[in-house]
Amino acid sequence: MIPKDHPRYESLMMREKLVKGCRMGITVLQGLIAHGRGEMFDYVLGERSHDFALRAEKVAVALMLLSKRPVISVNGNTAVLVPKEISELSRLLNAPLEVNVFHFSKERVDKIRSYLKRFGAEVLANCDAELKGLSHARRIVDRRGIYVADTVLVPLEDGDRCEILKRHGKRVIAIDLNPLSRTAMKADVTIVDNIVRAVPNMVEFAKELKDSSREELKEIVNSYDNRETLRMALKAIRVNLTKIAESL
Ligand code: ATP
Ligand code: MG
Repeated sequence: MIPKDHPRYESLMMREKLVKGCRMGITVLQGLIAHGRGEMFDYVLGERSHDFALRAEKVAVALMLLSKRPVISVNGNTAVLVPKEISELSRLLNAPLEVNVFHFSKERVDKIRSYLKRFGAEVLANCDAELKGLSHARRIVDRRGIYVADTVLVPLEDGDRCEILKRHGKRVIAIDLNPLSRTAMKADVTIVDNIVRAVPNMVEFAKELKDSSREELKEIVNSYDNRETLRMALKAIRVNLTKIAESL
C-alpha cells in the first residue's frame, strides 16, 4: 500500500496501475520502460499542464469535433491509466476507441477490449485491415476505425505509425510528454502533457465545445501552429531547469 501522504503518491499510483496492467495481460513490460521516459519529461516540465498543453488540448478537441470520422487509438498503458476518462471523451466526441498495440497478440487485444468495455465505451478491435507501409503490428487496424478515420488521437504513439497515418492522409493528434520524439515532431497537434492530466482536461474542453458552431470550432483550429507548441515545450523545460539551478 502506498500511503496517501507520500510526496510522490500520484506518480507511484500510476506505476501501480501499470504493474497491475501487466499482471492482467493488458500492459507489456516495454510499456513500463516507455512510461519511465514519459515520467522523466514530466519531471523536468514540473508535472503540470502548461498553457501550451491546454491550448493543444482545446485545439485537439475542436479538431475531433470538426472531423467526419474521428477515432481514439488506445494501447495498453492508456487502457490502464485512464480507462474511465478516455471512455467519457470517446462518448463526448462521438469517436470510437480502437485498440492498437505495438506488441500484438489477439489475446492481448481482446483483453484490452473487454477491459475498456466495462467503462461503457464503443471499442473497435477487429484487426481486419492493414495500413500499408508499416512492418510492425501497429499496422493492424479495424476496417471501421483507424482505416477509414480522418483524424486519429494517438496517446503514447510510436513515431513510425504517426508517419504512416500522416501518409495515409489522416490528421494526427499525439499525446506525448517528450517534445523531441518523432511522434511529437510529426503530429499535426502535439499535446505535451501527461495522459492522466491531458485526457481529463480534454473531457472538460469537450463539454465546453460540443455545442459550438463549426465556425467557432474552425476559428480555434485555424490559428494553431504546432511548431510553436513544440518550441514552447522545449523552452518550458529550459526555464524550469534554470529556475531550479538558480535557486540552489
Ligand atoms: P518515437 O518513436 O516517436 O521517437 P519513442 O520511441 O520515444 O518515440 P515510444 O516508446 O514509441 O516513444 O512511445 C512512448 C512515448 O510516450 C514516449 O515518448 C514517452 O515520453 C511518452 N509517454 C510515456 N508515458 C506517458 C504518459 N503517461 N503521458 C504522456 N506521454 C507519455
Ligand atoms: Mg518509438
